[in-house]
Amino acid sequence: MSRDILSMTLEEMTQAFADLGIQKFRAGQIYEWLHRHLACDYSEMTNIPKSLRDELSEKFPLYNCEIERKQVSKLDSTVKYLFRLHDGDFVESVVMKYKYGYTICVSSQVGCKMGCAFCASTLGGFKRSLYAGEILSQLYRAQKDIGERISHIVLMGMGEPLDNYDNVMRFLALVTDEKGLNISMRNISLSTCGIVPKIEELLKRKMQLTLSISLHAPSNELRSRIMPINKKYDVDKLLAACRKYAAETSRRISFEYAMLSGINDSDECARLLASKLKGMLCHVNLIPVNEVAESPFKPSSPERVERFVSILSSNGINATVRRKLGSDIDASCGQLRLKENKNREKGDE
Ligand code: SAH
Repeated sequence: MSRDILSMTLEEMTQAFADLGIQKFRAGQIYEWLHRHLACDYSEMTNIPKSLRDELSEKFPLYNCEIERKQVSKLDSTVKYLFRLHDGDFVESVVMKYKYGYTICVSSQVGCKMGCAFCASTLGGFKRSLYAGEILSQLYRAQKDIGERISHIVLMGMGEPLDNYDNVMRFLALVTDEKGLNISMRNISLSTCGIVPKIEELLKRKMQLTLSISLHAPSNELRSRIMPINKKYDVDKLLAACRKYAAETSRRISFEYAMLSGINDSDECARLLASKLKGMLCHVNLIPVNEVAESPFKPSSPERVERFVSILSSNGINATVRRKLGSDIDASCGQLRLKENKNREKGDE
């Protein structure tokens, strides 16, 4: 994929151009068109001679996302995009408006292999990982479409970002580049189901991003039942890695905990969770599970959630209940899926 120009750093682009005898300064211009002006096509690059644009579009085709469908929530103006990738695959992204600005939730893979029992993203199986440029392109297309600066990013869409480690690291480097959109690393969250060796690798980079851990259960017995990854990296190994991460980066870890009625929402679960997180620089985000048609889980009642929060708080663990956005357009956590791909395969549009 050396020809995937949207995934190239400026240095790589400069080198690739030099190899073809293209003048160096052109790389700077093209990089700016792609990552500053968010150009979708070489034809927009008006200060580049037509002959060079033709050469580039042949040698470095742009693997952009195209907006296939856009849904706007009537409840809270959350926007969900279905993006078509260059090879005809689809991913979903969601833009949410908060007091502090716009946040985009981007996908890192087409489908997901992780198999969490409550999540729609895993239902259609796994197709492929996205290239850095394809993750960037979700942001670029959305920002252009809404006409406002998107200042925050959450890697919480479809897919497991740490199962696509190299491309995600490249994405992070490009999106925080001061010659590009220059988004602050502190405004980026990366969410993982807990691939421990990759968390350890991430730690070595000492990045300022927020690490979110999809925990969802405090014991191995329960977590293995709903999250297959726990059989590989169990909850104690995961929490030990998190403890180290928080201590060494001084960044607060965010634990995601989907409240599944009658499954993981008991007082006992709350107490066990509190004891396992004790003393760690962290925060717990409780999310009454969003219903997915194919899965049997029901959200915990507001009273149960409140009781769970109060047990955590009285044990010194900071916890909040996440506000649900875009629920009328299936844009909430765990509701992004491959539906469209499946429909298309069946030819039933
Ligand atoms: N694979 C990564 C990124 C996905 S992030 C991860 O697991 O963290 C999506 C977040 O939504 C995760 O915390 C996930 O566990 C959570 N989630 C999945 N299905 C959900 C559902 N039905 N209700 C609420 N949260 C859900």
